[in-house]
Amino acid sequence: MSCIFCKIANKEIPSDCVYETENIIAFRDLNPQAPVHILIVPKIHIASMNDINSENSAVISEIFETVNKIAEQEDIKDSGYRVISNCGEDGCQSVQHLHFHLVGGRKLSETLS
Ligand code: 5GP
Ligand code: ZN
Repeated sequence: MSCIFCKIANKEIPSDCVYETENIIAFRDLNPQAPVHILIVPKIHIASMNDINSENSAVISEIFETVNKIAEQEDIKDSGYRVISNCGEDGCQSVQHLHFHLVGGRKLSETLS
């Protein structure tokens, strides 16, 4: 499997991990766009938002239950933050393994595009 986030999840490639369970891993983005920029990733390979279904959605719930814990850990829970998942070509998804960007630590742009 040549997927880079599978390799990070399997510890074949090192990452700056900030949170981990049996099912998910969260690590700092290599090219941060804000003072806090963390990628939250299911350990199982789900290619994108388009591939979430009733069979694999428990891990998505776990990810969203985890966001505020990581936000607290990173001291951005009260100041605020944004969670983003890019999907497909128009969404500018560059890694084809589902991931959620958690960004904060500065005032973010008001536009989503
Ligand atoms: P996308 O553009 O697919 O939404 O986001 C992919 C993100 O993964 C980018 O922000 C990019 O900087 C990050 N990224 C790509 N390869 C690696 C890597 O090997 N390690 C880490 N920590 N981040 C990566
Ligand atoms: Zn993968």
